[in-house]
Amino acid sequence: MSIKTANDKTISEAASLLKEGGLVAFPTETVYGLGANALDGKAVARIFEAKGRPQFNPLIVHVSDVDQAKELVVFNEWAEIAAHHFWPGPLTLILPRKDDCPVNELVSAGLDTIAVRVPSHPVALKLLKAAGVPVAAPSANISGTLSPTTPAHVSEGLGDKVDMILAAGACDVGLESTVLDLSGNTPVILRPGAITAEELSRVLECDVIVDDGNSDKPKSPGMILKHYAPSIPLRMNAIDLEPGEALLAFGSDQFMGIKGVGAAKDLPEAQRRNLSIEGDLNEAAANLFAMLRALDSPEYNGIAVMAIPDQGLGVAINDRLRRATKGSG
Ligand code: AMP
Ligand code: MG
Repeated sequence: MSIKTANDKTISEAASLLKEGGLVAFPTETVYGLGANALDGKAVARIFEAKGRPQFNPLIVHVSDVDQAKELVVFNEWAEIAAHHFWPGPLTLILPRKDDCPVNELVSAGLDTIAVRVPSHPVALKLLKAAGVPVAAPSANISGTLSPTTPAHVSEGLGDKVDMILAAGACDVGLESTVLDLSGNTPVILRPGAITAEELSRVLECDVIVDDGNSDKPKSPGMILKHYAPSIPLRMNAIDLEPGEALLAFGSDQFMGIKGVGAAKDLPEAQRRNLSIEGDLNEAAANLFAMLRALDSPEYNGIAVMAIPDQGLGVAINDRLRRATKGSG
């Protein structure tokens, strides 16, 4: 890992690293972010690996301007007003992903919405412009530790897990961005942050609900973040298939059988996916949501998933699969 003072040369180096699938820590006006190319699932999986996150929670996608945001998500009138008024700045908008949105599904943990924001830190903006790709970035710290507001915090926490730290002193706000969900009938703050409910309500000229998941009585039932789960039953640690099940394999599925019918390898292409033939957890994480979605069809009785080792990224993969076996949530 190298810590480099941000200037035109190091910013362009960082942009190249991002495009090649590297991890770059960079300053935003809120905290230092741990960035990866949002179009590259394996790069995004490295974020979770580096942070040691035991769960796949959706990440914020950083873009350089409103036009780039509009390539990814569908804007509505509130989004137009909020973006016009608060971007670049510490406001994250949750909006429906476009049908042809190229962002890897791991970024949004399989949800059909994406969190987007244009940061105002000049280094972040230059980096995003130079990279030319949307950049997924949570805070650049080990999961469960304090958010980093200086390059030293980042290197103490993540060390060699990050390819480069673009250093530009301490962040101004130190508070995280406000996460505003504009995908429903009412604007809802999912995470309070640098921009307040009062400011948002004044600018949007409507009520803004705060639902950060902490109150036992949600102010707006049904609007809490739901995790993606397939609509057909999911079975983990499968060693063979029931007739009619689709297969989500990990590693070789050469010897998987279908009870009383034959071999899994003879299933039609559409009924069978492999998270990683080589048994690579990083590749499996990158493929997880898209493959679950591909197999989630009423044609099948369910999805049988082969065992995935409960280590490294496997912990987060198994966490998500376990939730999916229970329906959603
Ligand atoms: P962090 O990674 O620490 O910056 O936090 C990102 C925040 O954005 C978390 O509170 C996520 O739950 C939230 N978030 C990101 N994407 C979505 C989404 N599509 N729907 C709801 N919340 C989201
Ligand atoms: Mg964080």
